[in-house]
Amino acid sequence: MVFERVGAPLRELELPVPEAAPGQLLLRVHACGICRTDLHLIDGEVEIAAPPRILGHQVVASTVPDGRRVGVAWLGWTCGECSQCRAGRENLCERARFTGRDIDGGFAEYMVADERFCFPLGEDHSDEQTAPLLCAGVIGYRALAMCGDAQRIGFYGFGAAAHILIQVARWQGRDVYAFTRTGDEAAQAFARELGAVWAGSSEEPPPEPLDAAIIFAPLGALVPAALRAVCPAGTVVCGGIHMSDIPAFPYDILWGERSVRSVANLTRGDAREFLGLAPRAHVHTRVHSYPLAAANEALRDLRDGNFTGAAVLIP
Ligand SMILES: [Zn+2]
Ligand SMILES: [Zn+2]
Repeated sequence: MVFERVGAPLRELELPVPEAAPGQLLLRVHACGICRTDLHLIDGEVEIAAPPRILGHQVVASTVPDGRRVGVAWLGWTCGECSQCRAGRENLCERARFTGRDIDGGFAEYMVADERFCFPLGEDHSDEQTAPLLCAGVIGYRALAMCGDAQRIGFYGFGAAAHILIQVARWQGRDVYAFTRTGDEAAQAFARELGAVWAGSSEEPPPEPLDAAIIFAPLGALVPAALRAVCPAGTVVCGGIHMSDIPAFPYDILWGERSVRSVANLTRGDAREFLGLAPRAHVHTRVHSYPLAAANEALRDLRDGNFTGAAVLIP
C-alpha cells in the first residue's frame, strides 16, 4: 500500500520483493500497526521527502530465510557520528532515517531493514498484539519516563499509546487520569476499565492536581489545559510528532517551575527496555485488525475515532 502524494489514499500495487543490501535483513511482514504519524504523513503535516513511499513503522516480521521473529520501529538508521549520536541521543540524530518516511516500511508483504535496527521479539503475544508496542508502546514509554517519579499522571487523548501506557503506569503503582474529547464515553469507559482512577473531558479540570501529564492528542490547545492541571514542578510532555499551534497562555500557569517538553522518536535502548518490560508488566493490547488492502479504511477509522485501542494491518 503505497503513499504517492499528500492527501491521496494509499495505492495498492504489486511490487517486486525488495533485495537486502549488505547489513540489511529481508523480512516477511506478519503485522504492521497504524500510528497517528501515518495520518500526519498522508496529510503532509510531516513531510515525505522522496515519494512514492511505503508507510508503516510498527512491524512484526520474520527474517527470510531463517525465520527469526523481529520488530522494526520508526528509527530506521542513524549516522553514529553526529554530536547527538555521540551524546547518546540517537533519537535526535541529524541524519536519522525513519521507517515508513525515509525508508519503505511495513504496509507491505516484504520489506528490508538495517539489521542493527531490528529488535528480537519474544513469543509472549501474537503478531497483532505485538505490533502496537513498537511505536505507541516504545515512544509512549519514553514519554512516561520523562514524567520522572510522578504519582498522578494525566493522559490527554486515550488512543493506542495511552491504552498501553496506562497498563505500564498502573504496574509501576501510579495513578492515571484520562482526558478525552468531550462526550467520548467509549474512550472514558475504556480508560476506567484499564484502571484509570478518573476519566473525563479534556475541558474539565482533574479532581486533584496532577504531578505530570502526557499529551497524546495532536491538539496544541491541550498544552495550557494540561499546564493548568499540573501542580508546581509538574511536567507536561507532548508525545506526538505534530501538533496544532499552541494558543498563547498566561505566564502564571507555567510559573512554579512547571515545564513543557516534547518527546522525539526513540533510541534502540528505549525499544529494548520497553519490549523487555512489556511482558513483565502484563501489557495486553486491544487491537483491531484489517487486511493490508484495507489500509485506507483503517486510516479513516483512526481519523474518525471509530475504535478503541490500536489498528493493525495484516498482509
Ligand atoms: Zn508511530
Ligand atoms: Zn547521528
